[in-house]
Amino acid sequence: DRFHRSLSSHVAIRRQYCNPMTMKVTYYKKPVFIHQGHMQWLWDVDGRRYLDLFAGVATVSVGHCHPKVTAAAEHQLKRLWHTTSIYVYPPLHEYCEKLASYFPDPLKVIYLTNSGSEANDLAMLMARLHTGNFDILTFRGSYHGGSPQTMGLTSNAAYKYPIANGLGCTNTMCPDVFRGPWGGSHCRDSPVQTIRDCGCAQGTQTHRSRGSTHSRCHCMANEQYIGQLKETFATSVPSRIAAFFGEPIQGVGGAVQYPKNYLKEAYKLVRERGGVCIADEVQTGFGRTGTHFWGFQGHDVIPDMVTMAKGIGNGFPMGAVVTTPEIAASFAKGVHFNTFGGNPVACAIASSVLDTIKEDGAQQISLDVGTYLMTELAKFRDKYEIIGDVRGKGLQIGVEMVKDKVSRDPLPAEAMGEIFEDVKDMGVLIGKGGVYGQTFRIKPPMCITREDADFFLAVFNKSIKNYMDRR
Ligand code: PMP
Repeated sequence: DRFHRSLSSHVAIRRQYCNPMTMKVTYYKKPVFIHQGHMQWLWDVDGRRYLDLFAGVATVSVGHCHPKVTAAAEHQLKRLWHTTSIYVYPPLHEYCEKLASYFPDPLKVIYLTNSGSEANDLAMLMARLHTGNFDILTFRGSYHGGSPQTMGLTSNAAYKYPIANGLGCTNTMCPDVFRGPWGGSHCRDSPVQTIRDCGCAQGTQTHRSRGSTHSRCHCMANEQYIGQLKETFATSVPSRIAAFFGEPIQGVGGAVQYPKNYLKEAYKLVRERGGVCIADEVQTGFGRTGTHFWGFQGHDVIPDMVTMAKGIGNGFPMGAVVTTPEIAASFAKGVHFNTFGGNPVACAIASSVLDTIKEDGAQQISLDVGTYLMTELAKFRDKYEIIGDVRGKGLQIGVEMVKDKVSRDPLPAEAMGEIFEDVKDMGVLIGKGGVYGQTFRIKPPMCITREDADFFLAVFNKSIKNYMDRR
């Protein structure tokens, strides 16, 4: 039996045969040897159970091997595994019609792909063909894919290779109200407040940030960051652009949120320059932000294109681009073909995922359990010097770790690793992210309970205490 091989022999196989990312062979010093999953739980080969708060990077949306989704997959597997879009077949049509009903007009035309990178590649192509322009803007700190084109959208050095990637892509300042030079949490749409709130209702206040003293009302954040965007337009791109890509909340970047109204104003500026606005909902879609089904709805904008993957298939490989009939018409001038895009099994699974989100009340769970988690984590932030920021919406949560609250220097990788390993050894899997690897990421399957949240909170508290005691 393959599980009777030792963990070390599996690590050796990984190093030799499976994309051996040299130093990063697995995520943990002592790797987790996963055998089985059910809903929010994973089991290793020795039967040890883990609470999965990372969900394979916000991918397992309704739960590992969710019985309803598994049944839908089984049903389709017995009938038809594959056919291409050359033929007419119901699972494709049923799914596209259903997915379209989740979007406001005019977002009604769907292209199915097999991954998020592929969806973003396609969106880049469509934006360029539709506008006749070439340049594309994204935020620093973002992750939009690892293909040579999407690597240009991605702005995190850890995922970049020294090749001519994403020609025509420019990465502009991320309006990060915690790590950036301006901001306070009332500027963003999060149930918790940061330590840097100035109480702007009373006007300008003096506050300390990153070791120096500033005197500015935090509500200026949006204007300041929009000013930065205007500077990028003036200095780094031609007067006409093809597109602007932005996640409603940055995922790999560490649940980074922007000031309220930022996206709305940015969309206006982009459209004035001939560009289309693209929301990458790979991590924020399918109810994860709790208040809305799509992250963009929390920003009161309607994009021209929405890209998605991960949670769309609850772990089954799939992606999609949703756009307007007008953009689709520009794209129809050539032939677009994708062998597996719209595969019947993928469509049956994705269709069942949409139904399950509704039936299980997953969006409401995201809102309730997510808000509870953030509220409790904010108490830890007030208690511990090394927790700089707690933020997010629903079950898309970031806990940014710092050396201390005045300098806000990122907690070094070694310290992050110690806490991370300790949390895992106590039975909880979380993620790491942020440009400096300084942010813990919590994005579980949307079936977790308040009891699970309490268990994690106890574990996290203990691991921080352990670290502080060792320090
Ligand atoms: N966009 C975002 C926001 C992502 O987080 C990711 C994956 N981390 C991608 C796109 C790329 O998706 P995939 O790995 O399926 O290509």
